[in-house]
Amino acid sequence: MTLFSPIEMAPRDPILGLNEAFNADTRADKVNLGVGVYYDENGKVPLLRAVQTAEEARVAEHAARAYLPMEGLAPYDQAVQTLLFGTDSPLLQSGKLITAQALGGTGALKLGADFLYRLLDKRLVAISDPSWENHRALFEAAGFEVVNYPYYNPTTHGVDLEGMLQGIEALPEGSVVLLHACCHNPTGADLSFADWTRVIDVVQRRKHVPFLDIAYQGFGDNLQDDAIAVRLFAESGLPMFIASSFSKSFSLYGERVGALTLVTESKVESAMVMSQLKRVIRTNYSNPPTHGAKVVAKVLTDPALYELWEEELAEMRDRIRLMRQALVEKLKAAGVTSDVEFIQHQRGMFSYSGLTQLQVATLAEDFGIYAVGSGRICVAALNHGNIDHVANAMAQVLL
Ligand code: PMP
Repeated sequence: MTLFSPIEMAPRDPILGLNEAFNADTRADKVNLGVGVYYDENGKVPLLRAVQTAEEARVAEHAARAYLPMEGLAPYDQAVQTLLFGTDSPLLQSGKLITAQALGGTGALKLGADFLYRLLDKRLVAISDPSWENHRALFEAAGFEVVNYPYYNPTTHGVDLEGMLQGIEALPEGSVVLLHACCHNPTGADLSFADWTRVIDVVQRRKHVPFLDIAYQGFGDNLQDDAIAVRLFAESGLPMFIASSFSKSFSLYGERVGALTLVTESKVESAMVMSQLKRVIRTNYSNPPTHGAKVVAKVLTDPALYELWEEELAEMRDRIRLMRQALVEKLKAAGVTSDVEFIQHQRGMFSYSGLTQLQVATLAEDFGIYAVGSGRICVAALNHGNIDHVANAMAQVLL
């Protein structure tokens, strides 16, 4: 008997496990559609020009590496608020906003979860069915009971709004409701403006706590429209939590750049809440890293770099749209008669393709094309070099 002998092997992460299988595959034309990463037309993770310019300026500064405050870099935190609520939002000057820099979107969610655990007696969080696979694990690890509300309708390939509203209505009063602000992962199915107003109405009436996850701002329509859920919730006057991630929008995955923003009811409340949030930070990692936040703050506050970044975001967004369109056309050309148009209307990096677990397994085995068992494919991993292979293989398993 050794200290570690009682330990059993943990189940493999479904997506990271997929990467291992992909890496072990020796076929030259293999394609990894499993990951949640944007690749450019050359199949590479891009280094954005705006990021590169901001980095060069930062290196030229030869700045010392002191600790950041627990809540992170102040100009970064402010810039995150402006991006979320818009330059004209009265909230920006209201004292009701608190932002803490976080270790990516994941870190922001965990900070929020740890904070809520201390705050609430009833630790129940509802996530969409389906949702990003880490939502459940993360909140369970933070001590929450996690339930699902209906979200996706596989027949329409869209949101089951009535089911969602009923599910949220039926939760015990005061539950935490986790919502994807835009570009839903994994389905690519989003709520409309009118849908959001109905969701907000139920959340408000049932005194639930809204927790918005915004990991793809800019990948739907544009930076402003993709923040509509955040802004509508803010207008409703509800206190809320928002987890931002810049992993995708700045292509800064490994730098871990995210933020947790809270909307409170007053300046006084903000001060109290921030003091408690800092305790959560202090006992986890003390203070966040500097580099990513400096770079993002620079881009967000320098008008020329901001403009360049918006252009580069649009390039990424347009390329994904082009790939969606091309995939639909090529599937049809390959003889697929079932409805595939929905792939074109889904938003963000992913498509819930409708492929069954068996079809996904066949794609990997026979064609070296790797997707998530749920049928989620990352459209951002397609390019002109691999799309014919993918479309032909998909057509063969669909026919
Ligand atoms: N939320 C959602 C919906 C996501 O898809 C992701 C990343 N795949 C995250 C949060 C986490 O983002 P990060 O990589 O910045 O931790």
